[in-house]
Amino acid sequence: MDYSIFKALNFNMGGIEVALICYNVMCQWSVHMKDRVTGSRYLRIPDSLELRFGIGLFHIHGHQDTCLARYSPSFIEGGRQIDGETIEMLWAPLNEISRSTRGMLTLHRREVIDDHMNDSNWKKLIDLGRLLLAGIALELTEIMQSMLYPNTTAGCSLGQCSAQ
Ligand SMILES: [Zn+2]
Repeated sequence: MDYSIFKALNFNMGGIEVALICYNVMCQWSVHMKDRVTGSRYLRIPDSLELRFGIGLFHIHGHQDTCLARYSPSFIEGGRQIDGETIEMLWAPLNEISRSTRGMLTLHRREVIDDHMNDSNWKKLIDLGRLLLAGIALELTEIMQSMLYPNTTAGCSLGQCSAQ
């Protein structure tokens, strides 16, 4: 868990100042996280990156009441209403291919699963058009704008802002 999180946080993160990490047991994982990082040769937090810790809304209600206030994405700046369970949403569709991947060698199985995950990501990307038609164009535009131009001021239109 530590290695995968910090490997991701150190990949192509230039210009990103804040990362929200959601994990089912964040209330436990985050307790000694900094000690584990400082004590490791392999783990590193980018210097200018602020980490925010959350538990997805799907799992937060199974925790103690104190966890809700501390880790619910609803109460974390930038968190909004997210389930934080993106990877788990793939389990059910990936189960459909388990019969065909069961007999494969490890590398072949990884490639097939990667292909299906890439297909899922592609479908999410092309489904953005449906979201635009559903009337959430402004919110989506703001999200894309903040991703493309993280240092610009709010209120300028997508494609009309330049990085400052
Ligand atoms: Zn908890």
